[in-house]
Amino acid sequence: MFSYRHAFHAGNHADVFKHLVLIAVLRHLTGKETPLWVVDTHAGAGLYRLDGDYAGTSGEAQDGILKLADAVGTHNGIDGEALVPALADYLDMVRGFNRPGDWRVYPGSPFIAQKLLRTEVRDKLKLFELHPSDSKALAGNVAQLGAGRQVSVAREDGFEALKALLPPPSRRALVLLDPSYEIKSDYGKVLATVRDSLQRFATGTYAVWYPVIPRPEAHELPRKLRTLAGQLRKPWLHATFSIGQKPAAPGEPADARQGLTASGMFLVNPPHTLKPALEAALPQLLQVLGRGRGKGHSIEVGGA
Ligand code: SAM
Repeated sequence: MFSYRHAFHAGNHADVFKHLVLIAVLRHLTGKETPLWVVDTHAGAGLYRLDGDYAGTSGEAQDGILKLADAVGTHNGIDGEALVPALADYLDMVRGFNRPGDWRVYPGSPFIAQKLLRTEVRDKLKLFELHPSDSKALAGNVAQLGAGRQVSVAREDGFEALKALLPPPSRRALVLLDPSYEIKSDYGKVLATVRDSLQRFATGTYAVWYPVIPRPEAHELPRKLRTLAGQLRKPWLHATFSIGQKPAAPGEPADARQGLTASGMFLVNPPHTLKPALEAALPQLLQVLGRGRGKGHSIEVGGA
């Protein structure tokens, strides 16, 4: 069950897309005075080395954050000044964890969220991570922040633990559901958790990440989430981002394994600012990260 380690994937195209969305959502939600709770049900280790053994083995960040940083920094792709706000905001966030021009660290969702939370307003971050090593690493990384009671870490099942947190006292929360989907039951658990959470706390913002892969459950998840949001008359936003197939190298079979090439985010009760932010950012991101056949993006909204 525990073979997934996010360190192999940190900073890949799916992380770039997910964290771009996360930042855009949090920018909006932290614009209001009332305290906000952010619940990250599948938090990972929090911080990753882009030059470490895990990252080096898979090299996934090369097709993600490192490609984006290179394109902007060297004028290979886009002029830094022409970056659209949401993309510039994302890049600035990751840059903030690194020395100038030296991209060695990648912040996971807990560290990105924590940077955007407000101490004076008493925002809170609740983190859950079940993997023994990753939860230990997460607790250690968070301890170094010295954020005190603002951030809590628990080695618990995030799907289950969420129940006790909703509704939050301030009635404002973002819940990020970002499982690894290494077991098929994660798809059903995500749907059941969003359904249960909307019953407990109908006005929360829920953000689900999922892989776009040839597996029936992965295709059905966004469809089922859309049906659920429709039944409950909740606004939703569904976005996908695909870098497409890497052209085959000389001597390589045309159908060589490509790894993950696309992912999606489904949000219930998204901020109204998210759609325009993504409409501007995703084409530009695709211009840099897009590789070949199948590349593209989509944004759909619906509901009340
Ligand atoms: N949200 C992180 C980010 O964006 O930086 C990445 C999380 S990673 C995709 C999924 C994590 O969920 C893995 O670290 C895995 O160990 C953990 N996990 C798996 N099942 C879990 C569960 N039921 N509850 C909490 N964590 C779980």
